[in-house]
Amino acid sequence: MEFESKSARDGAWYDVGTFLSHRYLDKGDPEVLVRFAGFGPDEDEWLNVCKHVRQRSLPCEASECVAVLPGDLILCFQEGKDQALYFDAHVLDAQRRRHDVRGCRCRFLVRYDHDQSEEIVPLRKICRRPETDYRLLQLHAANDSAATDQQKTRGDTSKVNTPRVAVSATETMQHNTGVADPDFPGQCFPTCQNNK
Ligand SMILES: [Zn+2]
Repeated sequence: MEFESKSARDGAWYDVGTFLSHRYLDKGDPEVLVRFAGFGPDEDEWLNVCKHVRQRSLPCEASECVAVLPGDLILCFQEGKDQALYFDAHVLDAQRRRHDVRGCRCRFLVRYDHDQSEEIVPLRKICRRPETDYRLLQLHAANDSAATDQQKTRGDTSKVNTPRVAVSATETMQHNTGVADPDFPGQCFPTCQNNK
């Protein structure tokens, strides 16, 4: 499993290269010493394992835009004047557009968590959380059964909104081995308290 961690320096998320060490504090969550992927020892940071380390977010392929829904937590590429970094954001609205040869042309209105700024972004700037995998599984299943029907289904995305409870536990576990419950990412570290 790959991880990403949130730097205390800028509040942005980076891929974890290596976990160098860990320590248990008198109170609070355990911490890990992280070497960020592509960075050297000078950038190493001790980070709260429950709050600032999580399974890596996933870049979206064009067909996966249907799994990005309003209300979702996403990782979004914010391009500023001096730097371009990945920050947590929430999807406020999704404008669906017909895809063409270049792929997804949908647009997403997002609000960044750290500065509350809003921006309209294309799919390529969005990484979705692994917890949304079940939507794609459902969609593929729905498409498979639709294909056996003779009926034409023209990108019917209504099925995507099926409530989370409809997902069987086995389905989720097959895909995310090691993550017990997507609502409690800390559970992938057995030592974490539930500090929701
Ligand atoms: Zn799209």
